[in-house]
Amino acid sequence: MYAFTFERPASLADAVKLATAGGKPLAGGQTLLASMKLRLSAPEQLVDLGGIAELAGVKKDGNQIVIGAMTRHADVARNADVKSAFPALAWLADHIGDRQVRTMGTIGGSLANNDPAACYPSAVLATGATVVTTQREIAADDFFQGLFTTALKDGELITAVRFPVPKRAVYEKHLQQASHFPLVGVFLAQFDGGVRVAITGAGNGVFRHAGLEDALNKSFTPQAAAAVKIDASDLNSDLHASAAYRANLISVLAQRAVAKALG
Ligand SMILES: Cc1cc2nc3c(=O)[nH]c(=O)nc-3n(C[C@H](O)[C@H](O)[C@H](O)COP(=O)(O)OP(=O)(O)OC[C@H]3O[C@@H](n4cnc5c(N)ncnc54)[C@H](O)[C@@H]3O)c2cc1C
Repeated sequence: MYAFTFERPASLADAVKLATAGGKPLAGGQTLLASMKLRLSAPEQLVDLGGIAELAGVKKDGNQIVIGAMTRHADVARNADVKSAFPALAWLADHIGDRQVRTMGTIGGSLANNDPAACYPSAVLATGATVVTTQREIAADDFFQGLFTTALKDGELITAVRFPVPKRAVYEKHLQQASHFPLVGVFLAQFDGGVRVAITGAGNGVFRHAGLEDALNKSFTPQAAAAVKIDASDLNSDLHASAAYRANLISVLAQRAVAKALG
């Protein structure tokens, strides 16, 4: 690691000042500290968000679940409101990485990082959630902008995520065994207004699948999902799986998700 200074502000206003002046926000450190150890990232100052009480916690607000940016995955997984109103999200949080990652990692860190194989972005995109920041509210469809890229500007901090609670939702993932990141993950959310399907792990970043959404809006059955041809041409090929394998996984996981949603 290179040398750096460390600040732990107690208020969001102080954190914004430090971040605006170039400080790098530190959440759970599960990605950032590893990147620094590998010298892929060399911030001159870390701004630890862990001392800002208002950034952590979950609340139910009407038909929405609001999760503070510094809420750890394990706290989402065991939250009673999330478990009863939106069990697919509790399941997702409970199956991220390993126990250390779930104890330290945060939803804000996961979304800001936007790893192309991360789990939370698929839930945010599939539900059309809103990312709340220190400057504005960003719709999920505008937030994710490809590989490790988001709509966040320099100095802008995520403060919370507002999830509309779907009628039915399922997250299905096939693990990459070494890291436990999804090789492919499919998040399916059904609302009165229609079905949204978000895919993670397969491409340059999380994306919605229009073909699956159209088919499932016409017929919410595994057979309808199976009939959708998944184009492999834009999908990743790497040492873990070919693009064709990932395309097949999208189809299989989408069929399973619909079957599970139907009970
Ligand atoms: C072994 C391992 C396995 C994992 N498996 C999975 C998995 O299966 N699924 C999955 O989804 N994820 C997985 N992860 C990722 C993990 O869940 C974390 O979400 C991720 O590491 C980032 O969250 P963090 O809180 O640790 O953020 P940090 O590492 O502290 O920060 C990450 C980035 O976000 C920025 N940042 C943090 N908070 C904010 C904020 N509030 N506003 C603006 N910017 C911010 C930081 O500056 C940094 O650039 C895994 C990680 C590891 C190490």
